[in-house]
This record gives sequence, structure tokens and C-alpha cells, in this order.
Amino acid sequence: MTLRQYILSLAAMALVCCSATHPAYAQLNLFGNFDHGSLQSWSGDLNTIQLVGRENHPTTSGWRWMYFQATGVNGAQPNFSINQSFAGGNSALNNHEMVYSYDNENWLFFDNNQRSGTLYSFSNNSTFTSDEVYVAYAQPYSYGRSATHTAQVLASPWAQPTSSGDTNGVIGKTPLAIDDLGRLVPQKDIFAYRITNPATDSATPKRKVVITTGVHAGEVLGTHTFQGLVDWLISDDSRAARLRDDVEFFAYPTMNAAGRFAGTSRSTVENPNQDPNGLWHPSLWTTHADIRANGEAMLADVVSTPGSTVDAFIDFHSTIPSSPGDDFAFIEISEGDADAPWWQELRTLQPNVEQVESTGTNWTTANFGDLLLNADVDITFETQFGKSRPLSHYHTTGENFGIAFYNAWVQVANPDEADFDEDGDVDSSDLATWQQNYGLTSTATHFQGDTTADQDVDGADFLTWQQQSGNGVPVLAANTVVPEPSTLWLAACLFAVAAWRR
Ligand SMILES: [Zn+2]
Repeated sequence: MTLRQYILSLAAMALVCCSATHPAYAQLNLFGNFDHGSLQSWSGDLNTIQLVGRENHPTTSGWRWMYFQATGVNGAQPNFSINQSFAGGNSALNNHEMVYSYDNENWLFFDNNQRSGTLYSFSNNSTFTSDEVYVAYAQPYSYGRSATHTAQVLASPWAQPTSSGDTNGVIGKTPLAIDDLGRLVPQKDIFAYRITNPATDSATPKRKVVITTGVHAGEVLGTHTFQGLVDWLISDDSRAARLRDDVEFFAYPTMNAAGRFAGTSRSTVENPNQDPNGLWHPSLWTTHADIRANGEAMLADVVSTPGSTVDAFIDFHSTIPSSPGDDFAFIEISEGDADAPWWQELRTLQPNVEQVESTGTNWTTANFGDLLLNADVDITFETQFGKSRPLSHYHTTGENFGIAFYNAWVQVANPDEADFDEDGDVDSSDLATWQQNYGLTSTATHFQGDTTADQDVDGADFLTWQQQSGNGVPVLAANTVVPEPSTLWLAACLFAVAAWRR
């Protein structure tokens, strides 16, 4: 680091610190100088605020990511406007909706969003109720959030650092570089982790799934979807537990850590004029340290472990409204990737998801997965901005990837059996499942306690459990638990209650 760089870094850090801890301003102020923030400049007053976006998109002019804090706005009802020169085409703003939050955690959509003349504008029908408000292009996902989430995941018994990572899951650092606003961006840790049940590692080679996100810095909804999948994979859901026995997931949550921190719309800080999703080959990443760190870690973590085939590679992005008009995947349909049972399961669980033939021939992350990690199926998954969707939509979509893997890959018990948790025996935990879900109608799965395919959890399903457990007849495995007499008595009582409630 030169002296000039050092001074710049002190200045940059000071700005970040101040923005994080300043007292509430009495007068109007806007700034984006914090983790993931993005605002070129602004002017105006409490009635009308003109925004200037950072036109730092590497392949097309215009702004795309925006995220700032406004202070001194309590009781105000400003109309925000910004030039519609939007990277990817200004028509992408026709149906877009900006979001705001008072706590930087819970986000609401602005009431009015429209393109008119040369401006895109947005406002609310009522006044702000707090002196400080955050405003963003979509629900943000800061670099710090990824770091915190990674630590939470690694605290789970079902996640470990990958072979190339240290105990905190750090596989490398981004290089020092100056962003388009002239700020020196500090080095940022790059993370990875592996999710599986380590107790089953010595069993037969496991299926492998590689998941990545954040290569395009501003595509935050993809990272929310990624988190939805990860949170489900380490959850107490019995299906996730069974999946962890058979599958190992290699996860790379910070593919463009410095770009996300600096608030770029797409590029890394190191190479602001290049799209980072085309440099995923050892011959191309020699001058792209952050891409190289992720790529070399994936090669070391995944290819070197037993069983060389990767079953699925998914790179989570998000997209502006475009064809086909909803969340979709770039997938090699002509090569049969879309026929993969887990992908078909996902589309059943998530009917809004569409598929588009992947025709890209450059070194995208997905092609890296396809050709250098030998993935059977490689997908660039695009969740769409601007659909008035709460974050739960993206979390559920992520969960559904996990459930799709379970449905396609894990041996499902005979649906007539009362082994609801599908662990190979009919026992008290299956009774607990039935009890917990008793009364479900029309939507119940075998997993929730339905043995009669009527999608209800009712007394008939209990009778199945009683017969299969009470008789002590092994259903799937030799270790079927024969309930103690007291358990049988409890079961009889429950059945009586069930019959009464019907
Ligand atoms: Zn993207």
C-alpha cells in the first residue's frame, strides 16, 4: 500500500464509521456511504428530491443498484425522482417498485412508482413516520449480512468450512482497489462452507451440489433466495435431515464481496469495466483476484473430494423484468438438463419458475460448473425484481430447491406406511408427527401424516400408525420400535380424542 492509498483508506474508513454512528440529523440529508450503499449525489428539499444514480454498470450505461439513507424526513412526503437511464433498458422501470425501511431490516414498497418523460419517480401516499429512512432499488443484502449469516451457518452442527477455508470459512480476500467514487475499498473476506451430516461422510460417496451467489453485486434477490435454501438445509426439518445424510452442499455466498460492499451494480471493484460473469476460467482470472479465489477454492473443495461428479450447480442471480416475465433459469434444455428429476420437482413446487435455453458460450459461473466441476446440471437462476413480492417469496423459493432435491433423491417410504418421518421405522416420533398435523385437510403430504392419499391427516391415518406400530410388524427395517404398553395406551387415548373431534 502506498502512503496515498493508506491515507485514502483512513478517509474511507472514517466515512463508513461516521455514517454508521452519527446522531439523527435535524435537516434533510441523503448518503450511501456504508456497506452496500449506492448513491452518486442528490439535490432538493423535503417536497422533491432529485437522485443521481451511479452509472457504473460495466456492459451498458446507466445506473442499476441504488441504496441510501435519508435523515431529517419525519413528517415529510417527498417525491423522489431519478433519470430513467437505467442499465438494461429504461422500460425495465415500467413495472418497478422501489422499497423503503425504517430499521434497515423490514422493507415496504413505495405506493407510487412510475416512468414519465425522462424521469422515474416514486413516492408514498402518506408521510414518513421516522426521522431516518432507508431507500433501495430492492431489499438489500449487504456484505456484512453475508458475513454474519456465514458465521451463523458455521455454528450449526451441519456446516463446516470447506477444505480450502480456515475455521471461519474464509477462503481468500478481495484485493485493495479504488471504486468508481474514488474510495479505497478495504479487503473483504471471501467465504465458503459445506453442509452435510458429517457422521455419514464415511458411507457411500455422497451426491454433490454446488451453490453460489453474488457474482453480480446488485442482484440481491438471488442472495435472499440462496439464504432461503441454506437456512432450510441446516434446519430441523426432517426432510433436510435425511437429505444431509446423502448429499453434501458446497456453498459460496460472496462471489463478489468487494463489489457488494462498495455498492456496485454488477462489477467487481478490481475490474469495474468487465462483467465478472464471463471470467470463470483459470486462463481469464489471472488479473481478477476475487474471482480466482472463489474459482480455485471450488476446484480444491469439490473436485478433490471422493466421487468426482457434481449433480447440480446453481448460481443464484436476480433479473430486471424481461422475457420470459417471471423468475426463471438459464438451463441447457437441449442437453437434457431440464429433464433432471429434481428440476422437474422444483417446477412443480414453484410453478411460476420458467426456463430459458442457456446459449452462453463464454466462461460464466454456470459454464465453470459444467465444464470444470463436471456438473450434470448447471443453472443460472434468476429471481425477478419489482413484483411487489415480500422476502418470504424468495426464501420459499430457496427452500423449494431443497425440498425438490429431497423429493427426487431420497428414498421415499411407501406412502401407505405410517413412517411419516421416513427414517425406516414406525415409532413414537411418527405418532408425534401425526398429532402435530392432525386436522390438516386437502394439502397434507405423507410426510405430514397422510397414509391414505386423501391429503387429510385424520383418524384413518392414526389407525394405520396404530396397526403398523402396535402389531410390532417391521415395516421397512429390522429395528422397528415396538411401543411400550404405556405408549399404546396413549395412542388409544389420542385416537379416541381424534374420533371425538371428527
Ligand atoms: Zn446476474
